[in-house]
Amino acid sequence: MASEKHFKYVILGGGVAAGYAAREFGKQGVQPGELAIISKESVAPYERPALSKGYLFPQTLACRSTLNVCLPSVQADAARLPGFHTCVGSGGEKLLPEWYTEKGIELILSMEIVKADLASKTLTSADGATFTYETLLIATGSSTIKLTDFGVQGAESNNILYLREIDDADKLVAAMQAKKDGKAVVVGGGYIGLELSAALKINNFDVTMVYPEPWCMPRLFTAGIAHFYEGYYASKGINIVKGTVASGFDADANGDVSVVKLKDGRVLDADIVIVGVGGRPLTGLFKGQVEEEKGGLKTDTFFETSVAGVYAIGDVATFPMKLYDEPRRVEHVDHARKSAEQAVKAIKAKESGESVAEYDYLPYFYSRSFDVAWQFYGDNVGETVLFGDNDPAAAKPKFGTYWVKDGKVIGVFLEGGSADENQAIAKVARAQPPVDDVEALGKEGLDFATKI
Ligand SMILES: Cc1cc2nc3c(=O)[nH]c(=O)nc-3n(C[C@H](O)[C@H](O)[C@H](O)COP(=O)(O)OP(=O)(O)OC[C@H]3O[C@@H](n4cnc5c(N)ncnc54)[C@H](O)[C@@H]3O)c2cc1C
Repeated sequence: MASEKHFKYVILGGGVAAGYAAREFGKQGVQPGELAIISKESVAPYERPALSKGYLFPQTLACRSTLNVCLPSVQADAARLPGFHTCVGSGGEKLLPEWYTEKGIELILSMEIVKADLASKTLTSADGATFTYETLLIATGSSTIKLTDFGVQGAESNNILYLREIDDADKLVAAMQAKKDGKAVVVGGGYIGLELSAALKINNFDVTMVYPEPWCMPRLFTAGIAHFYEGYYASKGINIVKGTVASGFDADANGDVSVVKLKDGRVLDADIVIVGVGGRPLTGLFKGQVEEEKGGLKTDTFFETSVAGVYAIGDVATFPMKLYDEPRRVEHVDHARKSAEQAVKAIKAKESGESVAEYDYLPYFYSRSFDVAWQFYGDNVGETVLFGDNDPAAAKPKFGTYWVKDGKVIGVFLEGGSADENQAIAKVARAQPPVDDVEALGKEGLDFATKI
């Protein structure tokens, strides 16, 4: 007979938000057996951003001469579990599986929930196990958009890869070993596209990026910002093909991808294709059961949805963004961490008749690849003002951009900032200082931020 289990609290999903929520439950006090995390992944919560960065550092072959075999081994500085379990990404304690055991928190791994019935407070897994709860935290994150979703010809060939979970990263690592020093085509010019192009190049692949937009990361980057990264990537030997998309793939006799066909008629040889064309929040289990907004599950400032006792955190939540007075959904790790903490604090406060402050989030995004790293705080709307030297050939690149709306600076991007400088731009985005003269702001550059 299929098993049935009851918990006071269930966190559905085992990613970033789940890990930070578990830590907060630990801090606030949770009795053994009260809390379970149910995840379709086979490992305890980890810092997902590591998958497109340290996890893909080059592998070496460790040869055991006595056995006369060479096995892939991970370079000393390549990230591997347990090294990047939550909550190390924000400088916190690394929660190993033993931590959950000690706290009496049940980690139910490799368990996909296929049905959620919020009325009866029951979750059902693919193999028929049921889990009931009093309070549910939905932390299912996002899934990657696949080219097979659009019926792109040949998109099911081997070595056309995506990256969301650790299993995907392992497939990519295996493909890099199998196709050593080969040709890689990266479809998409967003976060994944930029970070994975760099990772493939570092692994000695001949890399071509393809994207339809006039410049990379158009959702955040201005033409001036992209000018730097495109030039910098070109200087690292990465080919960039813009203004077209992958319209089909050919495979060899083994079914391995061999050619990427572009819509403009060009063809590119490929041993590995990485696709990073966006994600979708995983809200499907709750369709028709909770209110939705802007593609996510609508929550209040405590991350409680329209159904009492059901919370949504991380990528799936559309929450009231106090700073901009409008509902927003944020697909970034900093918000996954903070929304999880806010929800657990609110749940515990409610139980003891207390209250917590409203969630007052300042958007923060970052990325790094090769030896460049940027941070962004605030909102990227309004007029833009580029400052500093965005020459891709600069020996020590440092430049940025201010976004100015209604006479106030509301967003700041900075490449190559020190810890203090990054703190300064965060302060500016929060304080929203007035500016009368944008030309003068451009000339003043980073000094404007460090003075605030
Ligand atoms: C490769 C990569 C690199 C990234 N790099 C950055 C970065 O540099 N900076 C940044 O700000 N953000 C980055 N992000 C985004 C960031 O990681 C996400 O915003 C964050 O992980 C969201 O946390 P979450 O807990 O909402 O979802 P996730 O961390 O995705 O966790 C969701 C969990 O739910 C599980 N799940 C889903 N459905 C079910 C189900 N039905 N049953 C059981 N389990 C289920 C999943 O398996 C997963 O374990 C990156 C994302 C990826 C994929």
